[in-house]
Amino acid sequence: MTSLSTDKKGYFGEFGGSFIPEDLQVVMDQLEEQFLRYKDDPEFQEEFKFYLKQYIGRENPLTYAENLTRKIGGAKIYLKREDLNHTGAHKINNAIGQILLAKRMGVKRIIAETGAGQHGVATATACAMFDMECIIYMGKLDTERQALNVFRMELLGAKVVPVEKGQGRLKDAVDEALGDLVQNYKNTFYLLGSAVGPHPYPTMVKHFQSIISEESKRQILEQEGKLPTAVIACAGGGSNAIGAFAHYIDEKDVRLIGVEPKEAPTLTEGVPAVIHGFKCLTLLDEKGEPQPTYSIAAGLDYPGVGPEHSHLKVSGRAEYVTATGQEALEAFQTLSKTEGIIPALESSHAVAHAIKLAKELTKDDILIVNLSGRGDKDVEQVFHMLKKN
Ligand SMILES: *Cc1c(COP(=O)(O)O)cnc(C)c1O
Repeated sequence: MTSLSTDKKGYFGEFGGSFIPEDLQVVMDQLEEQFLRYKDDPEFQEEFKFYLKQYIGRENPLTYAENLTRKIGGAKIYLKREDLNHTGAHKINNAIGQILLAKRMGVKRIIAETGAGQHGVATATACAMFDMECIIYMGKLDTERQALNVFRMELLGAKVVPVEKGQGRLKDAVDEALGDLVQNYKNTFYLLGSAVGPHPYPTMVKHFQSIISEESKRQILEQEGKLPTAVIACAGGGSNAIGAFAHYIDEKDVRLIGVEPKEAPTLTEGVPAVIHGFKCLTLLDEKGEPQPTYSIAAGLDYPGVGPEHSHLKVSGRAEYVTATGQEALEAFQTLSKTEGIIPALESSHAVAHAIKLAKELTKDDILIVNLSGRGDKDVEQVFHMLKKN
């Protein structure tokens, strides 16, 4: 990155902002202007609502996990069923929101980065639906490890570009996508997959994902007549968690708990630093470089985290804890057996913590676990892990 320009907008405490080259800043300013113009526009909101309902299948249920609750003893556990969305996770909420914005901006070419492929698939899906050209940048190493997801994106009409630069991982794919954006910004929209990146992305992604807590708050009041004791969500970049927290942030009696993999504890052990154009808590090695992480859940494998989570942590409004891969693997099986719901390995981290916490609470307490996605994509991986043991 050439020059460094900072912008006072888009800060959450000391985190967030925009640390990007001048030419990219021009594109971000324009994106912010368009986002602010449309987000409160009634016609835009109607259109978003229409696709949430008719395409994604919202609203999805808030399911009382009665068997799990009985097995664990203690707090009542509810599951917010993002796993029932079209394509099987929360990512589609954001993909549809951003693509509708791109449409309003008159853009026909969508680019995105993807690591394991989940965001690439959500983007390719939305592009097929809205007849947009779709280019997905993916590290070469990742394309080899996730060949089936590459094929899935291609089936949906996307062009997957393997990035050979660097280590052929997610970071390199992000750099390549940003380079493309700077060159082609006049006809191109960069559809970012999590609540990270330079302003306005963290704010925009939160806006589109906050439908999760808008629904869950209404649902828990209908079903229980009171707010939950805690809302629990897994945090990779932090988009499902910020969406699950959004409408409870001002409800000071509701605990907000983000669960990270023990193997990538960005919020629990990270320090403030700038990565990928924004400031957040992040894991650095001795040389001050982002630390390579490894989680059994590909979607949680990121050395940084959204700036708003960094602020919620430092300000004490939210708590962040870890669950190990082994605990997630056990929760994956427990939820499958007790409720007939196979959770994504990412979501299994949140389930694992809910199981721990429920035991410490009473039957008057309510936990809402955001089930960010379904585990079908992980079944083969779990099969190999369990066979090995
Ligand atoms: C991508 C993904 C995550 C992690 O991303 P966030 O931005 O932290 O939500 C979590 N769960 C599932 C099912 C995912 O696909």
